Amino acid sequence: MTMGCGLLFDQTLCLGCGACELACQKEHGQPPHKAVKLDADSFTFVGRVEGGYFQRHLCMHCGDPACASVCPVSALRITKEGAVVYDASICLGCRYCVMACPFLIPKYEWNSPFPRVRKCDLCYEGRVSKGEEPACASVCPNGATVFGERAELLRIAKGRIQREPEKYIDEVYGEYQAGGTSVMMILGKTTAASGLREGVLLDALPPLTGRMLRKIPVAVPVVGLMLAGFYFLTKRKNDIAKEEEEEKNG
Ligand code: SF4
Ligand code: SF4
Ligand code: SF4
Repeated sequence: MTMGCGLLFDQTLCLGCGACELACQKEHGQPPHKAVKLDADSFTFVGRVEGGYFQRHLCMHCGDPACASVCPVSALRITKEGAVVYDASICLGCRYCVMACPFLIPKYEWNSPFPRVRKCDLCYEGRVSKGEEPACASVCPNGATVFGERAELLRIAKGRIQREPEKYIDEVYGEYQAGGTSVMMILGKTTAASGLREGVLLDALPPLTGRMLRKIPVAVPVVGLMLAGFYFLTKRKNDIAKEEEEEKNG
């Protein structure tokens, strides 16, 4: 597991201003827009939830990423800083990563002649690899999204929960989900759902998704048959198919 740095999102501090969305789009050369869901041009979006709160959505940058574990050509990989990054030049377009992600994050460029898998890269090339903070954290006006060492962010998150237990849900989302993620979130107490994926296994997922797939040469049909055997993946097939249909139809 690799986790050096990460992001902490504090739902109770988020103003819903959308500055993080716009900064992310600018950093990645995407058209500026109000994002309403994760898609090929929106690596993050902020949605209103009940209780007066706003919730950010983005790749969680798992410490042991299932998306990377199923990629037959290692087009997805985790860096020493903890960012899960993608190399479009070697991607086969098999979309196993899309199916494997427990948070339903990666999207596919259905409308492009040269489709890529798209998701937050923690601004790795342009910023984090140069020692700078990600674009979203750099513009957040209220400290709702902050960048730092994961251990320090976890300490901050737990400190806030401890100091104001009546305000926060007693859990750091991402501390244990999928074995632990570099992006973590703390949520305000509300009866409403945050829109975050619930029931994500607390163990790292690659043992389920088949770490050995990385070692198999480009034998896509064989890999496909093997994947079909994994209950974890097939259980979610319908969800993905529905989402992809929506993506295709714009
Ligand atoms: S920039 Fe900060 S305050 Fe504004 S929507 Fe994003 S996380 Fe919330
Ligand atoms: S959240 Fe999904 S896409 Fe992001 S690193 Fe984890 S498995 Fe990969
Ligand atoms: S870390 Fe970078 S790529 Fe990820 S949501 Fe923030 S601005 Fe976008």
